[in-house]
Amino acid sequence: MHTTWSPSSWKSKPAAQAVSYPDQQHLSRVLSKISTLPPLVTASEIERLRYQLGAVERNEAFLLHAGDCAESFDACTNENISAKIGLILSFSLILIWGARLPVVRIGRIAGQYAKPRSSGTEKIGDREVTSFRGDNINGLDPNDRTPDPERLLSAYFHSTTTLNYVRALLTSGFASLRHPRDWSLSHVRSPALRAEFETITEGLSDALDFSRTIGVDSGRESTSFEQGGGRSVLGEVDFYTSHEGLMLDYEQSLTRQFPVPASVNHGGKTTAFYNTSAHFLWIGDRTRQLDGAHVEYFRGIRNPIGIKVGPTMGNEELVQLLDIVNPDKESGRVTLITRYGAGKIEAHLAGHIDIVQKSGHPVIWICDPMHGNTLTSSSGLKTRNFGTIISELTSCIRIHSTNESRLGGVSLEFTGELNDEGFSVTECLGGSMELSEEQLGLRYQSFCDPRLNFEQSLDVAFLVSNHFRK
Ligand code: PEP
Ligand code: MN
Repeated sequence: MHTTWSPSSWKSKPAAQAVSYPDQQHLSRVLSKISTLPPLVTASEIERLRYQLGAVERNEAFLLHAGDCAESFDACTNENISAKIGLILSFSLILIWGARLPVVRIGRIAGQYAKPRSSGTEKIGDREVTSFRGDNINGLDPNDRTPDPERLLSAYFHSTTTLNYVRALLTSGFASLRHPRDWSLSHVRSPALRAEFETITEGLSDALDFSRTIGVDSGRESTSFEQGGGRSVLGEVDFYTSHEGLMLDYEQSLTRQFPVPASVNHGGKTTAFYNTSAHFLWIGDRTRQLDGAHVEYFRGIRNPIGIKVGPTMGNEELVQLLDIVNPDKESGRVTLITRYGAGKIEAHLAGHIDIVQKSGHPVIWICDPMHGNTLTSSSGLKTRNFGTIISELTSCIRIHSTNESRLGGVSLEFTGELNDEGFSVTECLGGSMELSEEQLGLRYQSFCDPRLNFEQSLDVAFLVSNHFRK
């Protein structure tokens, strides 16, 4: 039996990956300041996402969840934000075109700062120092590893300014399907990939001209997919934000009670607690203990949530977790983000699908082919092999279809970031650009997990889009 939930009830449970601050009073001062600051997102935006995720669950839309492993305060620039949004838009355009389905876009953006770590300390040179836990906790500089509460406040403001710019970009025509070249092709070097993308944009331009000519051009995406026919959340296309809900003190300070919109059925209740720091939050693979603080916090918020599901998740444990976070089996509430690794997916996914089907829990299944496939290159850089990523993704699609299930989306770590000379990052091996181990060091910019670059991401987009082609 669960006790009463409140935004702080997680405090009575053990929190994995907890950060210990040397000055608790300083932390309390910062948290009480954050709790007076305005929400980043609204209850109606969160409800809208839940509604659209319901469509993904019914196979009427596809979910793209993507962005950096971790954002950094220094990377909060015009160029990086627009490159990231541009890549998400290009990727989703390829999917919409191939699968003829609306795409729900959720960025790992505007708050994805905190990182779980497998060890509390790490070796830098010959020193053993506290591990880097993300810009909202401590610094990458090995001399700046003491957790500083001011970084939480800075994370709030960096998230706000990122989201402000994303909203501004999307309401200023940046996402317009009439000008996809503005946000994409300049990055693509591979002639074959360029040609494939140009075929889509030309086809699209013809389709838009045709609909304008016959007078059915609303200038917007399909309205049947929208709730209440209102304006899109962030302008011309919908776009939502997400991060791992790791730092519960921070999440609590942005958890606010609001009336539930009249159009929404929330078991007869008129108010709910919304985490207003992002539209969507997920529980990481290291913090999903059934009796732990994170699961306790997540069960009480109204936002749609993700749960990372790795090879150590037991079948019964998965259903128990769903029973806790979604006792009323509400649609659009839970997305299971599977991340077993290419070599382990065969042993786990079918069993997980089977037990969830038997439990009657409605879920969205999405594939994260990144986190089970990380390796260290001979030069010591953390990397991932494009072929292994594709292998997990194709196994995932196949296992779902042989088990009367369907893959509802993908969760990727990618970046459209370019260096000063306009080159993509070199963090993952392979892809159509055939990135080799010797080339990894050229423009390796991630301070966390290796990300697919622009070309490698489009390779994945074409693969998925071809699979779902109608
Ligand atoms: C992540 O998504 O960056 C992450 C740390 O994932 P996981 O919890 O699946 O390891
Ligand atoms: Mn990661």
